Amino acid sequence: MIKRILVTGGAGFLGSHLCERLVDEGHDVICLDNFFTSQKTNVSHLLDKPNFELIRHDVTLPIFLEVDEIYNLACPAAPGHYQYNPIKTVKTSVMGAINMLGMAKRCGAKVLQASTSEVYGNPEVHPQPETYNGNVNPLGPRACYDEGKRAAETLFMDYHRMNKVNMRIVRIFNTYGPRMHPYDGRVVSNFIRQALTGQDITIFGDGSQTRSFCYRDDLVEGIIRMMNGPDDFVGPVNIGNPGEFTIRELAELVIELTGADVKIVHQPLPADDPARRRPDITLAQQKLDWQPTVPLREGLEKTIAWFKSIDLSHYRPPTPNYA
Ligand code: NAD
Ligand code: UDP
Repeated sequence: MIKRILVTGGAGFLGSHLCERLVDEGHDVICLDNFFTSQKTNVSHLLDKPNFELIRHDVTLPIFLEVDEIYNLACPAAPGHYQYNPIKTVKTSVMGAINMLGMAKRCGAKVLQASTSEVYGNPEVHPQPETYNGNVNPLGPRACYDEGKRAAETLFMDYHRMNKVNMRIVRIFNTYGPRMHPYDGRVVSNFIRQALTGQDITIFGDGSQTRSFCYRDDLVEGIIRMMNGPDDFVGPVNIGNPGEFTIRELAELVIELTGADVKIVHQPLPADDPARRRPDITLAQQKLDWQPTVPLREGLEKTIAWFKSIDLSHYRPPTPNYA
């Protein structure tokens, strides 16, 4: 059945791929974005499709649309982006959630929240199952994002319990792939950009911290399955790749795959940087029959090919957050 689907943050890295998938499936797709961390070029190839519409709007402000489903992805996701204006980050998560839940309630739409592994903070339980309540510092520099997303989860659960809003919560673990913002400061984009431009690879700390990297196509498949899954399974559900790598291993792999002649240098570890992170995806496997299919090496090869194809001067380097 053709559905009217709203994707907030639809011009971003994940949102633009989600829009592409949904447009290809024939749905009527509305992409809503304020372009804080993205640009129109991410969706320009969709603009002439009759089933795609682009709205420049900020989710912290109310908007009235008639839709059947809402994917709520609007939020800066990279540490440098979400710490640029931390108060705005909290507003985007919390007021954005309230506005989208209000729309879902009014239209009787189903709404999915793009939550994050950051709700687990610096985890004391490893790997992280959905039942783990996390270890988040509410006062640190990452709190605007972590606590904003936690509050959004609370709102989703309360609208569901109190107003019977049909909703889903997905906790996304580190995801990478073509169309990541090359200057978002995230580890995959930094390492690839540095390797391809002959700069030193910057490892924060000693590089022993771990992350689990999910290729964007696997991720998008997972969230679509969650949206379309049974109504009695609202989540939260972890969507991520359980393959766990140290940041040093990632740096070495990027150097190998790019063939770059670059050095590794060490910089201080940022405050509250989680020491390790790996999703327990048992629930997604059981309930959604979902698991990632793209190994890190293969996903990195595709991502490196995309980075080679872009002109970096078309992207704005980050404004320093003391500006
Ligand atoms: P992204 O920064 O590329 O995309 C976010 C989009 O939201 C951008 O297009 C941005 O302009 C838009 N946006 C930000 N604030 C907005 C506002 N107030 N109003 C309207 N639009 C706004 O990041 P992404 O990696 O594509 O992340 C998408 C979602 O997935 C985010 O909610 C993020 O928290 C979540 N997530 C991503 C990852 C990851 O590894 N990529 C991990 C966990 C969670
Ligand atoms: N990191 C790094 N060098 C960089 C960028 C990031 O060593 O140039 C580290 C960072 O300290 C963290 C990990 O890589 O331990 C992942 O960082 P990212 O910002 O990609 O995501 P998050 O910390 O939110 O998982």
